[in-house]
Amino acid sequence: MNILVCVKQVPDTTSIKIDPIKHTLIRTGVPSIVNPYDGYALEMAARIKDKTGGKITVLSMGPEMAKDTLRECLGVGADEAYLISDRVFGGSDTLATSCIISTAIKLLEEKNGSPFDLIFCGKQAIDGDTGQVGPEISEHLDRALITYAYESQVEGDTIKVRRESDEGYDIVAAKFPAVVTVEKTPYEPRYPSIKSKLAARKATIPTLTSAEVIVDENRRGLKGSPTKVKSTYTAEVQKNGQTISGVEGSAAGAQLVGLLFDAGILK
Ligand code: FAD
Repeated sequence: MNILVCVKQVPDTTSIKIDPIKHTLIRTGVPSIVNPYDGYALEMAARIKDKTGGKITVLSMGPEMAKDTLRECLGVGADEAYLISDRVFGGSDTLATSCIISTAIKLLEEKNGSPFDLIFCGKQAIDGDTGQVGPEISEHLDRALITYAYESQVEGDTIKVRRESDEGYDIVAAKFPAVVTVEKTPYEPRYPSIKSKLAARKATIPTLTSAEVIVDENRRGLKGSPTKVKSTYTAEVQKNGQTISGVEGSAAGAQLVGLLFDAGILK
């Protein structure tokens, strides 16, 4: 089993503010973290590896400091890590980003001599929130795509995924090789041990530059990024819905009616 997880280093948006005049993120002094959905994706990959064995590779595109993020991933179950970093990739929009990441994935697959069975991404990055990079990678690589995975199970050469939907949930399956984007799962990402943390600190993380990740200059960096950001805004905080789980059918209905009475909606 050969799994690749895309991991983005993001500013901790719980401590970030928006400049009231320029409407841009004030990143100064804000700590960087592993994009939380990527943490769930890595945990899903680690759980598969616990059962089937194999190897987990983590891949990030960003500045040199993104290696700290990759080290965190090595501490919690990834076996190897690569950083794509080059000035010519700076200013890339989502399409250019996914094109560069896909090219790097093909390079690693050539090195391995076979495609990754599974490529995991988070459902979205908390600083960009577009949720486009994972689906775009599946398109560039011409692989099956399953989005918003909540739980998953591997059977032979197939991944079965549970996705939450407005009506309840769907079970969808795809044969390897496939791309899966992951949302917040019921499994909290595991913590590193002191031993794995120390080993991760010493690990060598190769940097892949534009010399190896060869992308046409019209498809990378500013030149390859026709997206124009017209405005940004802070999304309104909405009260989270409540999911009834563990019961089905009439029992779930009875529980819902009870909740509506408690909330004063039914009288
Ligand atoms: P999503 O599509 O929401 O991410 C989904 C998943 O894809 C993530 O959970 C992760 O698994 C994977 N993923 C996404 N990005 C990466 C990554 N970098 N490495 C590994 N996995 C990843 N950003 C900069 O940092 N520097 C710039 O100079 C810059 N210039 C930009 C210019 C323009 C015109 C635009 C529109 C954007 C620019 N960005 C820049 C933002 C950058 O393009 C996005 O952050 C990036 O494309 C990812 O999109 P997203 O955050 O919406 O990710």
